[in-house]
Amino acid sequence: MVLVVARYRGRGMRAGAARGAGRPDTGEAPEGVGSALFRELAHMVAALAEVQGLRSFVLPYPGLAQRALDRTVMHCLDVGETPPRSLPELWEWCRTRPADDPLFAVPASLITPGTTLVHPVGRMPTRSCLEIDSYRPDGGVAAHARALLGDLEVRCVTGERYRQCRRFLARHPVVHQQDRFGLGWSKAVWSRVKSLYGPLPESLLVEDVFLRCPSCGLPALPRDGAVPVPGPHATGADIWCEGEECPRNDAPELIREPGQAWILRGSLRTFLALPHRTEEAARDALDRAGIDHEALSGPLSAYRLRDTGPGIVDIQVYDRLQPALLAVHLTDGAPLADRTLVVVPDALAGRDGYREAFTNALPALLRDRLVLTTPVDLVPDLGRGRGEEKDDA
Ligand SMILES: [Zn+2]
Repeated sequence: MVLVVARYRGRGMRAGAARGAGRPDTGEAPEGVGSALFRELAHMVAALAEVQGLRSFVLPYPGLAQRALDRTVMHCLDVGETPPRSLPELWEWCRTRPADDPLFAVPASLITPGTTLVHPVGRMPTRSCLEIDSYRPDGGVAAHARALLGDLEVRCVTGERYRQCRRFLARHPVVHQQDRFGLGWSKAVWSRVKSLYGPLPESLLVEDVFLRCPSCGLPALPRDGAVPVPGPHATGADIWCEGEECPRNDAPELIREPGQAWILRGSLRTFLALPHRTEEAARDALDRAGIDHEALSGPLSAYRLRDTGPGIVDIQVYDRLQPALLAVHLTDGAPLADRTLVVVPDALAGRDGYREAFTNALPALLRDRLVLTTPVDLVPDLGRGRGEEKDDA
């Protein structure tokens, strides 16, 4: 499996990965055609979602959409299926045909079965779609978020200024005109970050109203395309939000003057704002335990712990729905510390098969160095690691 994972990024396979997979090194077995097509469609969906007026595809289609459509048609002809006739139909396929559909046949050990690229309710790219796009050789949407933060860090000059700005972005995926008169508003911070915001896109408005999820603070949309009536009936499963996994106990907040609001760039909403609550919970846990930590630049959310005994210990925080892709990201990314605790939300770590999929996608050599944990288990897991080191000594 790991063999396939490594190839998925179009990179060379590692010896460690092959051993970890426990299968013979078969040389150049190509990535499945359907799998590669699914990846190309993920890129198409992510790229088109950045374009305003998403739902009115007109000819001529953007080049990458036309290429993806052509490749889908070719693949359908090869396997004897009726191909999609247009981009809207292909978009509908991305909403209804999951990774494990026979057309794509993406292995379950790589992408969770049932994963679609377009959300069935929101009709926008799923979080999984953006995660899959991030495994392109250029790093896709997640790399875009890292690049934006990298530029911001340079502009801020001092570390303290950068941390203030980063915190603001993470906590304010949407900014309303009236926020500027609220307590704690900093003109200096806003002037440094406002270029990372833009007007609310048409595709996120319903009858000229913008809906915001009360849990994750990210955009929401109703299934039936009508603004939910405030009150007890406004809740339920018929609302989609960009966070996808939020509880639906409270009605979405309505912003009725969308012209007076700005929204953070999509890549930063998904890869900075969304994991932020988990990041704060992890840092709170470290603070309560008196464990000093300093932010690392580079990864989106990473800290190096101080005074943890022999060896370098880092934490990295993620909110990713696809555990195998997260494992590949960590394996292929920047050099790892002696031990890295990978913190994900409790709800994800507790999900059936999540931990197993993460571990199985790691090369055997890295399985002791990368520990999947949660904000609650972080400090106990850290202690366990230290205990083991002592035992080894
Ligand atoms: Zn939400």
